[in-house]
Amino acid sequence: MIRVDLHLHTNYSPDASIHPKTIVEQLYAHPFIKVIAITDHNTVEGYHKVQKLASPYQDILIIPGIEVGTNEGELIILGIPEAPPKPWTPENIIDFAKERDGLVIVPHPYRTYGLGDSAKNYDVDSIEVLNGNDSLSLNKMAENLAKETGLPGVAGSDAHRADEMWTVYTEVKASSDIDEILKAIKKGLVRVGSKRKSIHF
Ligand SMILES: [Zn+2]
Repeated sequence: MIRVDLHLHTNYSPDASIHPKTIVEQLYAHPFIKVIAITDHNTVEGYHKVQKLASPYQDILIIPGIEVGTNEGELIILGIPEAPPKPWTPENIIDFAKERDGLVIVPHPYRTYGLGDSAKNYDVDSIEVLNGNDSLSLNKMAENLAKETGLPGVAGSDAHRADEMWTVYTEVKASSDIDEILKAIKKGLVRVGSKRKSIHF
């Protein structure tokens, strides 16, 4: 089992301040968080920066990701080191991901820019049921959405500042391998946890 933060922003997101170097330094120093996904807004530039800096460290794994602002709300794609072509509709983003064996997460469904109940209309892989920046009640609504749709629930810190990194994480029954991790999430071999306690669903 590994603990993974599936939702992090670097300073390549216009609203975030985390320097790629800080991420790698803190992953190196952390006792058990060694795998993260970089999910900047509408760009994979930050991912490529972090990946380059992390490459000398064998135990650190960076999953490529992007948080795309679609016309209906945001979607995260993991596993693909490039941005999808426009127009950014949920259908196009999901097709792009599926064609490349990527994983689609509905982040913070009930926050502004969240997909909300429309998530039920799309063939997504998982719901972010624990977002480090969401209130308890919004996370609870997301958890209900996951239950209703039967989709695996995942966690991501949604860190925009360095002190917000990996406040919550996803426990995945997989080894430190991107393919294995994405497959395990699709199969629901996950549970979510936070710094304070493990939360079981
Ligand atoms: Zn985000």
